[in-house]
Amino acid sequence: MEETVFGRAYSDLLEQAPRRSWQAQAGRLVVVSNRIAPIEEGQPTAGGLAAGVLDALNEKGGLWFGWSGEIAAGASTAQPEKAKGRILLRTIDLSAADYEEYYRGFANGALWPVLHYRTALARFSRDEYAGYCRVNALFAKTLLDSIAPDDVIWAHDYHLLGLAAAMREGGATNRIGIFLHTPFPAASVFMTLPPHAELARALCQFDLVGFQTETDRRAFEDYILREADGHLLPGRAIMAFGRVLRTGVYPIGVQVDEIRRQAEAPANCPQMNRLRNSIGESRLIISVDRLDYSKGLSQRFLAYERFLERQDTSRGDVTFLQIAPPSRADVDTYREIRLELEREAGRINGRFAEVDWTPLRYLNKGFARHQLMPMYALADVGLVTPMRDGMNLVAKEYVAAQDPADPGVLVLSQFAGAAAELTAALLVNPHDADDIADAIEKALAMPLRERRERHAQMMSVLRRNSLSAWRDRFLGDLSRRA
Ligand code: UDP
Repeated sequence: MEETVFGRAYSDLLEQAPRRSWQAQAGRLVVVSNRIAPIEEGQPTAGGLAAGVLDALNEKGGLWFGWSGEIAAGASTAQPEKAKGRILLRTIDLSAADYEEYYRGFANGALWPVLHYRTALARFSRDEYAGYCRVNALFAKTLLDSIAPDDVIWAHDYHLLGLAAAMREGGATNRIGIFLHTPFPAASVFMTLPPHAELARALCQFDLVGFQTETDRRAFEDYILREADGHLLPGRAIMAFGRVLRTGVYPIGVQVDEIRRQAEAPANCPQMNRLRNSIGESRLIISVDRLDYSKGLSQRFLAYERFLERQDTSRGDVTFLQIAPPSRADVDTYREIRLELEREAGRINGRFAEVDWTPLRYLNKGFARHQLMPMYALADVGLVTPMRDGMNLVAKEYVAAQDPADPGVLVLSQFAGAAAELTAALLVNPHDADDIADAIEKALAMPLRERRERHAQMMSVLRRNSLSAWRDRFLGDLSRRA
């Protein structure tokens, strides 16, 4: 059965862009993101985005531009271009003040929580917002020195909402698109950001604004129509602030075959073998998340505790492995969540552990992707319960890593972007511990036939909305309107 969104077939919502048209366009592809991903394969952070972007750049040739991850001793400084095959890399080292205000401050202290509906965690400072605008302007100015008018610019994510506006101010007439990897919240939530009107005006300077789901796209459109005096034009175009932009839905995908290969490759399996030997006959539940309050980790721990409370005789039969690499450790809220999880994991284990069984294994470290895939494959249940998530690639990777003959079951938050596509998962409300505990029970008891059916249905969606489809659709649309 075709999955639906607001009663429409999901595939209908995906723009019918002429495939691969973007490669034929004149000009280079210029990718701009906050960070340039480590190019070497096997780096823990070299996730799906990096793979999708690198493929595109390799195919067409082009430039990847972003922060180096380094803090400069003095002012922010652009580094010379470096060639890596057909790709040119250009980076900026940020000054301590720019890093503080732009990255740690407005982007991660104000925008990230609001985009994830956590308004109470957002703290706004005019100085930090000024720093955000300053760094966007610096990115724009440096880019303007490196690009030609027919280059197509593809910006990524919430760090760069002001990039097109700053480039236009500098005279750029290029096609400029942005893909927002996070959710876009309901208008009333977005409006809690004091500079919401300025941010919306800046977003309308892009030619194409891409979202993970139709819910996000609609929320943006709703804001522009109701709060910014915008008008809808045919073909998902919007007239606002005296110019026309397009919006679209481009759910980011995964490399399905590559994941399954990694899941089965003997060289990738030592971690899995250690895990298998240590859990013995026990069933395995796995979760993998950056340590972030949007991921619903503490709520998930409580839901697992609820599940354990219900299992009076067969508790030792299940082990829950939570992999949670630290992230943004210098942002206060992230330090707090780490302390909270350490406390909760200790408490739950203290309450239920036996001499030969640890119910919750909480690993505060990351693994390379190729090590994760076999662990996903081993797990009977993938427990993915973010409070909000733009997409959640872990959910898709978990499905892709499974053995189709004997697949595990995905328990997925209805508030992850992936839930719009993976409707054959067991969808749960992450605010409801009992709902998650019910789903864990159901997943562990699910007959093989049902597991196979659900898995096959999800795999067909993953194949259709692959990583290269995501990239081709976005770039096709961005070039199409030239
Ligand atoms: N990941 C990884 N090593 C880890 C934990 C996560 O390589 O220890 C990868 C994971 O495989 C996925 C990405 O990081 O590709 C996380 O993406 P997701 O969309 O789930 O969440 P995000 O971190 O982008 O919010």
